Amino acid sequence: MTIELRQLTKRFGALTAVDAIDLQVGDGEVLCLLGPSGCGKTTTLRMVAGLEMATEGDVMLDGKRINDLSPRQRNVAMSFQFYALYPALSVAENLAYPLHADKLSNSEIETRVAQVASTLQLDRILKRKPSQLAEGEKQRVAVGRSIIRNPNCFLFDEPLSRLDVQLREEMRGEIKLVLQNLSRPTVIVTHDQLEALTMADRIAVMRDGRIEQVDTPHNVFQTPSNLFVAGFIGTPQMNLIAAQLKDSDSHGQANFIFEGGQALKIKVDPAISRLAPGSKVTLGIRPRNLKMIDEPAEDSLSTQVDLVEPMGAETLAHMRDGFQNLRLVTDWRVPLSEGNKIHVRFPPGVTHVFAKDETVIRRKS
Ligand code: ATP
Repeated sequence: MTIELRQLTKRFGALTAVDAIDLQVGDGEVLCLLGPSGCGKTTTLRMVAGLEMATEGDVMLDGKRINDLSPRQRNVAMSFQFYALYPALSVAENLAYPLHADKLSNSEIETRVAQVASTLQLDRILKRKPSQLAEGEKQRVAVGRSIIRNPNCFLFDEPLSRLDVQLREEMRGEIKLVLQNLSRPTVIVTHDQLEALTMADRIAVMRDGRIEQVDTPHNVFQTPSNLFVAGFIGTPQMNLIAAQLKDSDSHGQANFIFEGGQALKIKVDPAISRLAPGSKVTLGIRPRNLKMIDEPAEDSLSTQVDLVEPMGAETLAHMRDGFQNLRLVTDWRVPLSEGNKIHVRFPPGVTHVFAKDETVIRRKS
């Protein structure tokens, strides 16, 4: 089973909520739609579910266009959160609930409940009520209720948003395990990057109704395709520093100048040679990639620490001197205090360069 969206568009009056997106989700694949509030994630999911009609474009399920089918005919499982069990019903009754509408015989229902209970290891707690379950067990029952009708795909909207931080962490792992065994396409909507990075096989990063990048969690983090994705993924946020390219060679050796007059010579992607000297660019480097050094060097910038935030094993330092806000993460043992003058080195190969149109300068791999 596969889902494919072709040029899918949704307009609400003058507002284009979803703007001609193309997307494929494979059998057994977990795809997260990730983006800030209002970027069109939920609307996209609702069009797949059949709860919202597409203005233009196609929703395909296993190669067939399903735009005109009702939600029920599409046989998708859409859940808004994993919880919401009926408290008065036992686990077995909660699992069986979605089957009643299908007019199955009691023995067929029993068989299906037993199958799902076995898949999700719920056999021993079938008689319990939700109040007698651990949180992880409740989660599994809720998942069981979504899968019992053997839907064509799974759609989840912010599944963990109501849970506290600790529980979220446990559930992310649990859900991933369950979804891996379902061999159906799954789409999860979230604005929480950690949720997406941990649960997804691939992430589609959305902004203003468009998909900015679709890639594995590793690739959206390591090789963002534009400034938006670079700034959106990763905490603390990637440093994004305005600079001017002075010159570069075909090996990616490049000289940059900053507003305050400082210069930097570093090795970046060889595609930099496409840019004319004098071009305005944005340099992107993650706070963990900046390295403190004792003496200034041609591949370092000098600045002053304004704020130190201990984060347990690491320390986050903010520097505003000469830059809008440069962030550096170091081991907690490195002594750092406000007012320190420091030199931060840009190691080779970890700095992204974004052109004026916000796309990354990178050779096609
Ligand atoms: P959130 O995480 O806040 O739910 P989202 O990325 O899921 O955001 P959508 O809910 O898809 O975003 O909304 C996309 C845009 O479409 C928003 O600007 C929203 O206000 C608008 N919108 C959504 N539903 C409707 C509607 N029924 N009528 C008019 N505008 C709508």
